[in-house]
Amino acid sequence: MICNFDASEHKLRRKNLVEILKNEGIKSQKVLDAILKIPRHLFVPEEVKDLAYENEALPIGYGQTISQPYIVALMTEALELRGDERVLEIGTGSGYQTAVLAELSLEVYTIETLKELSERAQRILNFLGYTNIYFKIGDGTLGWEEYAPFDKIIVTAAAFDIPKPLKDQLKDGGIMIIPIGGREFQNLYKIRKVGNNFYKENLGGVRFVLLKGEYGWRD
Ligand code: SAH
Repeated sequence: MICNFDASEHKLRRKNLVEILKNEGIKSQKVLDAILKIPRHLFVPEEVKDLAYENEALPIGYGQTISQPYIVALMTEALELRGDERVLEIGTGSGYQTAVLAELSLEVYTIETLKELSERAQRILNFLGYTNIYFKIGDGTLGWEEYAPFDKIIVTAAAFDIPKPLKDQLKDGGIMIIPIGGREFQNLYKIRKVGNNFYKENLGGVRFVLLKGEYGWRD
């Protein structure tokens, strides 16, 4: 009984969150349905579970954060997923964005530098039954050559420029979503690759944790 109540309570909160995202301008029904379905509270630490369905970024340990639901929705919508694509994600983090991608695409290849975070995400995503996610622990700025090229690429940490390997590993006609800027503030870009040209559209100001690695920030 308690469990059932708990599940429906979470569902109600997710419905409320979806309404907020609609009001904020998210239009894709597929994206909203994925957010309605995925139990975000399982992806956040115990201490912040009560805030799981607020439209907020939350700490997930190791100095990292789970992105704000609105940003997850905005980035996913911008990827224009049809369901048949292979997607590369840089920055697995909590694994929540990974779950949203796994709902809306064929296969997700996700890379995370921090072993502890990747392993925690793997446990939750396996528990939820996803079988179309491939995990790698390592430097995502190098991409994942073995499975390249990718139809879509999403970077969920702040870059100062597009890492060259990611440009190379994006399919012709593909879309990349990536925050680019300084350490404190970035703009979210939607980038379309057409031949050797990259067309950029600015989706607005954002704040992400830093993208580290060979083509990222060095501390
Ligand atoms: N989408 C995630 C965002 C987590 S924050 C979520 O909503 O939970 C960004 C993540 O990128 C952090 O976990 C950080 O460790 C990771 N990261 C930073 N630089 C990286 C790199 N070069 N390769 C892979 N992951 C990286």
